[in-house]
Amino acid sequence: AQKPVTVTVTGAGGQIGYALLFRIASGAMLGPQTPVRLRLLEIPAGLKSAEGSALELQDCAFPALESVEVTDDPARGFDGANVALLVGARPRGPGMERSDLLKANGAIFGPQGAAINAHAAEDVKVLVVGNPANTNALIASAHAPDVPPERFNAMTRLDHNRALAQLAQVLDVPVASISNVTIWGNHSATQVPDISHGILTGPDGTQGSLVGALAKAIGSAQDMAQWFATTFIPRVAQRGAEIIEVRGSSSAASAAAAAIDHVHDWVLGTGSSWTSAAVVSDGSYGVPRGLVSSFPVTSQQGSWHIEQQLEMGADVRERLEVSVNELVEEREMVRSLGLI
Ligand code: NDP
Repeated sequence: AQKPVTVTVTGAGGQIGYALLFRIASGAMLGPQTPVRLRLLEIPAGLKSAEGSALELQDCAFPALESVEVTDDPARGFDGANVALLVGARPRGPGMERSDLLKANGAIFGPQGAAINAHAAEDVKVLVVGNPANTNALIASAHAPDVPPERFNAMTRLDHNRALAQLAQVLDVPVASISNVTIWGNHSATQVPDISHGILTGPDGTQGSLVGALAKAIGSAQDMAQWFATTFIPRVAQRGAEIIEVRGSSSAASAAAAAIDHVHDWVLGTGSSWTSAAVVSDGSYGVPRGLVSSFPVTSQQGSWHIEQQLEMGADVRERLEVSVNELVEEREMVRSLGLI
């Protein structure tokens, strides 16, 4: 029998939590054979909702679900955690400045980082979903000096999946036939989708350039470049707002699905093609060391590796600089607020 894995979800009583818990418990994240012990961490106001989910989880009679515990005590919530999904965060309220937002989230992610440091399992892997995700991950990591910074990630997989879906639609091909697309930088409006290394695999297995296929579908290389800058990038970066407008509330199931994908690939490994994840920078591609920034990554044996030596066009380089500058500013702000 496989060893049980303890999975902690914060903000478990929220929208994303509701879409996430049942998929974790069904085995979608760690495989159907891996027993899961769920810990639902909430603030007191969210406890009832999380308790309701715990009852429904019981009623699903998932074979892999060993136990569910609901708590508002971070020490208990992170006790023995092998995987922690930090979803609960303070949303931006009306008239809230960025520094207010960072301060409010520092008060959540600092203590959570400390609780992870003190109580989580030695192999803990942490994925931050709550926004501003990259900087929240930085804050949590700074409060967990005994946990290697590589184990604190922020989620850009939803942006990545949105990009794949848009491309598949334009080309009228299955999503799975598109690979090696990248989201660089911050999970924010400055994020940098990059298709320049993309590969399109045909039904017979032949591989060709994604950019070439797009130029053909759209008309010309020039039209494609225009489409990329004025239609594709805004579509991906503003998809969240589009969902809110149509659905009446923010995306939840797709955010949860992306979190499942991220942890699945981190733990169980990627194939030969890469995905996108915000991981601590080792200085690759000129991103200052220590920042949590999105890169093209593969995972083997539970560790992410940043794809090296990809050629970067001037356009991607310029956009990445803007996004990285935003991350640097956020880091300076949380430093000056004493949050890291
Ligand atoms: P959601 O479950 O909808 O969202 C949770 C967080 O995920 C938000 O910060 C949101 O950021 C972020 N997020 C990241 N990507 C996406 C995306 N693509 N679409 C939507 N959201 C995204 O929020 P709810 O208000 O429903 O639930 C939050 C829960 O967290 C509440 O139950 C609350 O009690 C709890 N909470 C728990 C804390 C804790 O455990 N210590 C601390 C704070 C809150 P954005 O707002 O920018 O969209």
